[in-house]
Amino acid sequence: MRIAMVSEHASPLAVLGGVDAGGQNVHVAELSGALADRGHQVTVYTRRDDASQPVRVPLRPGVEVVHVDAGPARAVPKDELFPFMGTFASVLAAEWFVDRPDVVHAHFWMSGHAALDAVVQVQARTGGVRIPVAQTFHALGVVKRRHQGAADTSPAEREWIEPAVGRSVDQVVATCSDEAFELKALGVPLHQISVVPCGVDASLFRPVGDGVPVEERSRPARILTVSRLVRRKGVGTTIAALAALVQAGRDVELVVVGGAGVAGADLPDDPEYQRLDALARSLGVRDHVTFRGQLGQHDMPAVYRSADVVVCAPWYEPFGIVPLEAMACGRAVVASRVGGLIDTVVEDATGLHVPPRDETAVAAAVAGLLDDADRRERYGRAGRARAERRYTWQEVAAASERVYERLVAGTGAVTAPTTAPVTRTTGTRTGRTARPARSTESTAR
Ligand code: UDP
Repeated sequence: MRIAMVSEHASPLAVLGGVDAGGQNVHVAELSGALADRGHQVTVYTRRDDASQPVRVPLRPGVEVVHVDAGPARAVPKDELFPFMGTFASVLAAEWFVDRPDVVHAHFWMSGHAALDAVVQVQARTGGVRIPVAQTFHALGVVKRRHQGAADTSPAEREWIEPAVGRSVDQVVATCSDEAFELKALGVPLHQISVVPCGVDASLFRPVGDGVPVEERSRPARILTVSRLVRRKGVGTTIAALAALVQAGRDVELVVVGGAGVAGADLPDDPEYQRLDALARSLGVRDHVTFRGQLGQHDMPAVYRSADVVVCAPWYEPFGIVPLEAMACGRAVVASRVGGLIDTVVEDATGLHVPPRDETAVAAAVAGLLDDADRRERYGRAGRARAERRYTWQEVAAASERVYERLVAGTGAVTAPTTAPVTRTTGTRTGRTARPARSTESTAR
């Protein structure tokens, strides 16, 4: 199949760990690669955010990245990109008019909006069948607003365009059961929802490794958190939990990976870093915390393997690839019982669930695991097995391929393979005439 991936802000070529570069970038890169391994031809369309980028960049055999000129050729926060989506759509339409993909898979609400706009334009010009569109949201504005309230910087249009995209695409590919229920509440018919999780590179993230197999620690016990430094990721909760552990007399360190600048170069200018730094100081544990800044994927396994426990304490989490990476590395995980973490982390089998924003619960869960090497070992083995069995990118690509095949065949709904909480009903491809309003450059000014 010829597959067009649309990922307006998250390039598969980006450096990970900055405010807007994380799981979606990994997802698009790995899914595209695994689809190419299955013989498909994948083109990833992403916004040009650097004037020196060539228009077309081969990522690997079978995968090409196309940089779309839409808005300034420099980094722009994703919440300011909506006004450029009209231009983005026109570029897609021009490409697809001459080089028609069999299926489009859009990532994030703005990509879905641009993709729908483009396929309607192509159909209007060719008069043929509309190119089918699958959509993965990666995050939902309704959930973000619920948790972040006035701190949510999403453009106002997201509130109505996002559900309209969900209802207008041929299939929404949710990444976890929790998201499927949110989509249903937004009015997306069940037959238009499939569940296909994100994955993990189980050959890179392994319990043992060569080169630098395990990074050195500076204290006897180590907790690790890997996260973009944005407040909702709950790194503050983990620091507060660390303070409770230190107060209880434990000699434990916390390593935080992620934040502005490769290897921490720009951390001092990162507002969330400044807040977390001040928090650690005020709790008297600053010398127990190391902020590492952004690390490349290939540097991550040795860091995961150096940890006794990996803590993921977000307020909410659309999917969360980090716990999967920790599990694939054979680490015990303490995770908020939210979003995708409900599916991936199995209570008292691969880790422990805690309520979000509850440092006391995090501290208690970590303390229990630090005191019980056998249990950590058991969780680690089970986590590795679960990651290998259910969450490899090969599995995810095979499941995504089944969704695309059904769309190309015009048979509509698919219940996806690995986790499928959504009741299947007979799908139709009618009733999706809603075309989202087009954004224009002029609204940016
Ligand atoms: N990541 C990385 N380097 C960093 C920070 C994060 O490679 O410095 C990667 C991490 O290994 C994971 C992804 O970014 O693959 C984060 O994905 P997740 O779904 O957990 O969170 P998101 O960023 O999507 O909120």
